[in-house]
Parts: sequence; structure tokens; C-alpha cells
Amino acid sequence: MNLIGEHTDHSDGFVLPVLIPQETRVELEPRRDRVVRVTSANVEAGTWHEHELGSEEPTGTWTDHVRGVTRILAREGLLDRGFVARVSSDVPLGAGLASSAALAVALLRAIRQAFALDLDDVALARVAQRAEREMAGANVGIMDQMAASVGALGEALFLDCRSLAYQRVPLPDAMELVVVDSGVVHRHGSGGYNERRAQCEEAARLLGVAALRDVTAADLPRIGSLREPLARRARHVVSENERVLEAVHALRAGDVPGLGELLDASHRSLRDDFEVSTEEVDLLVGLVREQEAVHGARITGGGFGGSIVAVADAGEGHHAAALAVAEYEQRTGLDAKVLLPPHVLEALAGNDPL
Ligand code: ADP
Ligand code: MG
Repeated sequence: MNLIGEHTDHSDGFVLPVLIPQETRVELEPRRDRVVRVTSANVEAGTWHEHELGSEEPTGTWTDHVRGVTRILAREGLLDRGFVARVSSDVPLGAGLASSAALAVALLRAIRQAFALDLDDVALARVAQRAEREMAGANVGIMDQMAASVGALGEALFLDCRSLAYQRVPLPDAMELVVVDSGVVHRHGSGGYNERRAQCEEAARLLGVAALRDVTAADLPRIGSLREPLARRARHVVSENERVLEAVHALRAGDVPGLGELLDASHRSLRDDFEVSTEEVDLLVGLVREQEAVHGARITGGGFGGSIVAVADAGEGHHAAALAVAEYEQRTGLDAKVLLPPHVLEALAGNDPL
């Protein structure tokens, strides 16, 4: 889940994702032939899908995420045998929490282990990203895959999406992250994601730089001379990159209110300049933000629905989110879910041997 640095990855910028405790599991058994058989407990459970290694074509189903991975491994000569794989996940699908990257990274780890592939964690993330680009129709950046491949619980991953250099930044004990699924389902391939990305590339071309990463706040007058909506799109990316750097400082200083302000500013920028929020998500962000224990909130993920992230005082997050969700559901008729933090009583109940 991305704490801050939204829609900066495809402009070679900075991002600050954190891991959530939900995970995707892949059980894999190698075969002697080149047949790949997969099933997922999360999509049409019990249905098996089959393809031949090396002749992968997009099908428009979830298995494109698998086909993309096997196509690249086959092409690079890293894999010459098929396998049987069972997927299951408690990451919500399509909620802006990178279930697609979790699937690709989990699958690649299983393949790496089963076939003793020589592939480090960064190389693995790159294969996962290319797989999604080639087969799932989403021109995604590398953040989700890097977070899933090298991130660890309890820390944020400060990542430079150009060099893939990263630093681990511990999360302060005084704060708690809140994640709520708005119940508005987003779709990468058909949504405005690829359009936004193309607009950022166009803005960079007009500004004469390789990517918007190369533009700073000092260039704002030049950005302002771009035609709309390119100016707004570029302004978001440039200001968001700076917010990531400030958020890293805030985390290191244990400045929770300061971090909250950065999240608020990020949401305004995503809503007004990048235009990837929705009315419902704006409402949810507003309601969560009204809670006393909450210091800041914003939409997270690709946008057009999905989840929101907020920063709250430790121990207060679930209660605050539950109050906001009750009001949100009443006003929209949508079904929202508090994904993080888990409810204390639920967590205890889950551990109760009775
Ligand atoms: P996000 O990554 O934000 O969850 P995406 O649209 O990028 O949303 O990816 C969601 C898609 O990834 C699903 O529609 C499905 O095709 C695939 N996917 C992710 N996790 C699983 C899973 N456990 N089983 C089957 N397909 C999955
Ligand atoms: Mg995804």
C-alpha cells in the first residue's frame, strides 16, 4: 500500500509504500512437460486454467498475470518446464492494494524456489512489472512489485523509481496506518490510468526532459505554460515528489501531524490536479479526516475508486475508521471495509482456541 508518492512511479519519481499484513500464497509443483496449470481460490474457485509455456497470449482473465510471468521467463531461457500452481490471497482484488503485484511476486518466488532460478529480489520485481505490462494491459510502474518483493512489515520503503535504489524507513510507534476500501472498484486497463500516464509522458516531452522526475518546483512557471490538462498533471507529479521527500523526514523525526498534513496535500493534488479521485472517495477521505485521532488522509493506489490511507494515533485507528465508514455507508449505500488496522476484538477472537 502506498503511503505517499502517488502516480510518481511512472514518471521515474519517488514513492513510499508500506507492506500490509495481508498476503498472497502460491503453492507450486513442477511438471516434466511445458504445461502450466493454475487455479485461484479468489476467482471462480475450483476452475483450472491451462496454457503451454512459451505460447502465451492475453485472454482477458486473471490468468494473464500468470501468462505474462511465464512468457517472460520462457523467453529469457529461465524456465523450460511447466508447473501446477494454486493461488490464494487475502489481499482484496482491485482495491488499490496491489493484489496484481502480490500475485506476480508470489508466483515468481514460488517458481524461483521450485526451479532454483538465479533471480535476485530486484530482478524478480522487474519481471513482475514487465509481465503486467505485456499481458494485463496496464502500463504500470515498478512500485507495487518492488514493495512486494523487497519491503518488510513495520517499515516504509523509500524508493527511487529511476535507479531502484531504496532505503528502509521505520514507522514511528506513535502512529497507526488506517486503510479503508471505499467499495468503488477501479479498473486499471480500462480506466484513466494509461491516459494519465500518457499525459505525463507528453508533458515531459514538451518540457524537454526524459521524465517528470527531472522537473522541480523551480520549473513551476514553465509547467504553467503547458496546455491543460498537462499543466495540472505535471504540477501533481512535481509536488508529489517533493512531498515524498518531506514524508521521509517526517517519519524519521516521528512527526505524525506533519506526515498527516502531507497526506492531506497529496489528496488535494490527486483530486484537483491529477483528477483520479471520485466523489465517493472524497467523501470517505473527508469523513475519516474529521475523526479526532486522524492526522491526514488521502486516496491510495491508481485511483478512480479503490482504497484510502490515513495516519492515526496508535490504537485509535480502527475505531475512527469504523465511525467514518458507518456514516459513509449510510450516505452512499456502498459497502466499505476497514482493511487496516484489524479490530482488536476480531484479532483476539481469531486467536481464541475456543
Ligand atoms: P490491484 O492490484 O490494485 O488489486 P489490479 O486491477 O491491478 O488491482 O489487479 C487486480 C487483478 O489481478 C484481478 O482482477 C485479477 O485479475 C488479478 N489478481 C490479483 N490477485 C489475484 C488472485 N489472488 N487470484 C486471481 N487473480 C488475482
Ligand atoms: Mg495492480
